[in-house]
Amino acid sequence: MNQEINVLLQDTTLDKELKKIAKKVADSERISDDDALLLYQKASLGFVGILANFVREKKHGDKTYFNRNFHVEPTNVCVYTCTFCSYSRLIKKRSEGWEYNIEQIMDIVKSYDDKPVTEVHIVGGVLPQYDFKFYVDLFKTIKQHRPELHIKGLTPVEYHYVFKKAKISYEAGMKAMVEAGLDSMPGGGAEIFHPEIHDQIAKGKCTADQWLEMHEILHNLGKPSNATMLYGHIESYWHRVDHMARLRSLQDKTTGFRTFIPLKFRNKNNQLSHLEELSAVEDLKNYAIARIYLDNFDHIKAYWPMIGRTTAQLSLAYGVNDMDGTIDDTTKIYSMAGSEEQNPSLNTQQLVSLIKAVNRHPIERDTVYNVVQDFALIDPEHQALDGFLELPVINNN
Ligand code: SF4
Repeated sequence: MNQEINVLLQDTTLDKELKKIAKKVADSERISDDDALLLYQKASLGFVGILANFVREKKHGDKTYFNRNFHVEPTNVCVYTCTFCSYSRLIKKRSEGWEYNIEQIMDIVKSYDDKPVTEVHIVGGVLPQYDFKFYVDLFKTIKQHRPELHIKGLTPVEYHYVFKKAKISYEAGMKAMVEAGLDSMPGGGAEIFHPEIHDQIAKGKCTADQWLEMHEILHNLGKPSNATMLYGHIESYWHRVDHMARLRSLQDKTTGFRTFIPLKFRNKNNQLSHLEELSAVEDLKNYAIARIYLDNFDHIKAYWPMIGRTTAQLSLAYGVNDMDGTIDDTTKIYSMAGSEEQNPSLNTQQLVSLIKAVNRHPIERDTVYNVVQDFALIDPEHQALDGFLELPVINNN
């Protein structure tokens, strides 16, 4: 058994209920919703860190993944008015935002033609002209241009709006998107599932049940997806547990989720700016509890443009085993919300160095965690410095 957990279990001063949870984790037993709530309420960061790191290392050892990707945000004009959103502009203020057509989006995609990116992540605001035909055409055009580029596209928020407007079922809609080239769905738009919170921060958007249904349909079509949770605003700890419980339950059924990504609420330029942001200690604790609770999720990801690279680096000791991607300054979602990362872009060398600095083993992956390059024995400082290293593929299982 892991030495640090052993010490916890021998500790006669440790709270009895916490000790029971530690025993469950040590025995690879699932913890309950009440256990998770207790961890939020009573456990120290050190305690959950030991348990989360145990789970992380049992699943992945020191392996820490990242990918080379870029984002396309077709528009930031939106019909919704989520109170936490710093990014969107209402239709009446659309002159302050951007609205790209397919040609303009393809100019962005083509600007990566000579770069070994493996994924385009597409997400943005919701607007009538971004309809069913638009996205089918967009996915087809990207695939015609670069068939191997993985399209991780849109959330149930956009799909719900698009399918409703086109008067087609979720099943028919998702099937059409997959046929057009959709490879997987990102985890966004989940916010906090419980209606008590969801109705206050994301009124009118697809509900928890609709969000989960759309993911289930995609999983049944043989495509994976991710899941997120927007935490640290008006929710209570039990809302977070309820949120993760719904995800864990769907994952038991489909096994289609790859990664869970906790997203921290940032308070600049939105309707919730009066709220204080959580501390890094709370962020790390949240990662750790997610890792302990979501036993059927393979990966926990720290989205570094949202929490900053230092906290992301620290999170690798609190259950996290994925650092997302190079991103190349192609998303505005968190910089507009006040993140310390105002121009989020890390080249491969920087990502590898961040991971190695905390004695973890950097691995470049594709979207579905096939290994693209293993950096354990490669010193990126001796490679090209343009952010896109041309190295031989070591393993591609
Ligand atoms: S979070 Fe998404 S759906 Fe909500 S207002 Fe912002 S862009 Fe629109």
